[in-house]
Amino acid sequence: MHYERRRKRLVEELAAAGIRDERVLKAFAEVPRHLFVPEPLAPRAYENTSLPLAEGQTISQPLTVARTLQVLALKGEERVLEIGTGSGYQAALLARLADRVFTIERIEVLARRARRVLDSLDFYQVNIRVGDGTLGWSRYQPYDVIVLAAAGPEVPRTLLEQMAPGGRMVAPVGDNSSQQLVLVRRTAQTTTREVIDPCRFVPLIGKDAWPK
Ligand code: SAH
Repeated sequence: MHYERRRKRLVEELAAAGIRDERVLKAFAEVPRHLFVPEPLAPRAYENTSLPLAEGQTISQPLTVARTLQVLALKGEERVLEIGTGSGYQAALLARLADRVFTIERIEVLARRARRVLDSLDFYQVNIRVGDGTLGWSRYQPYDVIVLAAAGPEVPRTLLEQMAPGGRMVAPVGDNSSQQLVLVRRTAQTTTREVIDPCRFVPLIGKDAWPK
């Protein structure tokens, strides 16, 4: 069975699991996840599971990523900041759904591989930086949308400050035993928080997160 067919099946699976946003489903149908996972795992790339990357990290489960993207309700004009590039897969999906994507990864070998894969697919609108994402990326702020792909003890403060009014952020919060996916919305006056789902992500490691 070819990758395209498997990818189509995954999209059907996501739709059956409650993903209704047509733009999100289309992005999943277009981005070749098998190129983002380590080569020996490519045959498993369209299973709805997380898979190991180098350096003990993981590419998130497709349904988790799809739920996050659906909650963010991207229209196409947003400036997005992602913390935790990993394979670059979610960054590619975000690039399909928004205008510009800035993504930060603390592990250089992962960032370098992600860059190569994204370049090979012409995702030049994705900007990658190696560093601690809990400190944000002040140069391109404010961001309409911020997405964290790793779980810290709290939502990092600097990231809240780099959100645009009307902006939204999805962040897993918690430790190894229990985590929740939190949606933060910012208006001109207030910031609200809403718990979406229980979840399980790798730890967010940095100045405003867990120590190394
Ligand atoms: N979005 C990724 C998921 C990668 S897993 C994908 O689609 O593949 C989360 C990533 O967050 C890991 O690669 C980990 O190294 C990275 N990470 C953890 N703490 C970080 C921090 N403070 N800043 C940037 N990246 C971080």
